[in-house]
Amino acid sequence: MNRKVTIDALKKKRDAVILAHNYQLPEIQDVADFVGDSLELSIQAKETDAHTIVFCGVDFMAETAKILCPEKTVLLPVKDATCPLANYLDAETILKAKELHPGAPVVLYINSTAESKAYADVVCTSANAVKVVRSLPSDEVIVGPDANLAAFIQDQLPQKKIVPVPPEGHCYVHDYFTEQDVREARRRGGMIICHPECRPGIQKISDIIASTGGMVSAAPQAEVWNIFTEKGMAYRLKTLFPDKTFYVKEEAICEDMKKTTLDDLVSSLEKNQYRIELSREVMDRARNAIERMIEIGR
Ligand code: SF4
Repeated sequence: MNRKVTIDALKKKRDAVILAHNYQLPEIQDVADFVGDSLELSIQAKETDAHTIVFCGVDFMAETAKILCPEKTVLLPVKDATCPLANYLDAETILKAKELHPGAPVVLYINSTAESKAYADVVCTSANAVKVVRSLPSDEVIVGPDANLAAFIQDQLPQKKIVPVPPEGHCYVHDYFTEQDVREARRRGGMIICHPECRPGIQKISDIIASTGGMVSAAPQAEVWNIFTEKGMAYRLKTLFPDKTFYVKEEAICEDMKKTTLDDLVSSLEKNQYRIELSREVMDRARNAIERMIEIGR
């Protein structure tokens, strides 16, 4: 039996839906029911009728799905697929920041652990970070764990004081791009679009700064694109816009995003593994912060 037929049969048996992040391997994107960025997938998780959600991505994404749908079974096909950016921040660091900046609300990027989200006032994604922070009445806002995203928000909202927590938090995939890479892309031609997890210097000399979902929306504007984000995004864009050209840096690979293979997906469905389990208290607190984001996004 071919793999797609096996996966379809298992999905039916488990009453499962497969969600895949834009950075997943092409073969995973091809068998997923939905492919998207963190915000799009969170909304899909919340709205699905399926009993089981198989989340092809990294741990914080599957945790977010579990928080939004505590009654559902949420599976992460690879147990140790994690996000080094999310792991920069823990509850203790957030509590210290709150002590140093009394009254400042805490806005956490969706790329944070469930335990950290339980201490957030509101969660954000790269697609809605500016909108979320702008909506808060406070002049000072704690933002974590990505310092580059915090710098992007600061640039867009100069009237507020953004406190990055921790100041060194970054995604190694996006922080890796250099201004030289952008200059080379400029010589090659085409539009330059970068993710807000890239360094501020890259953001300043790009044409557009956008989340991966924003990259999909922007794509119709030009024929040739230089994409400054994880390599998997080029496959996603090429699938959606086969006549356009997308350049991406071959080395821009998130190792954890690439851990999930079709074999892992089949095993996950066959064995009902690896189930996300979180305490009721953490889920309830984190859910408030995520739902507040979804509300602001609407
Ligand atoms: S690309 Fe960066 S932010 Fe995304 S999962 Fe990988 S390490 Fe985390």
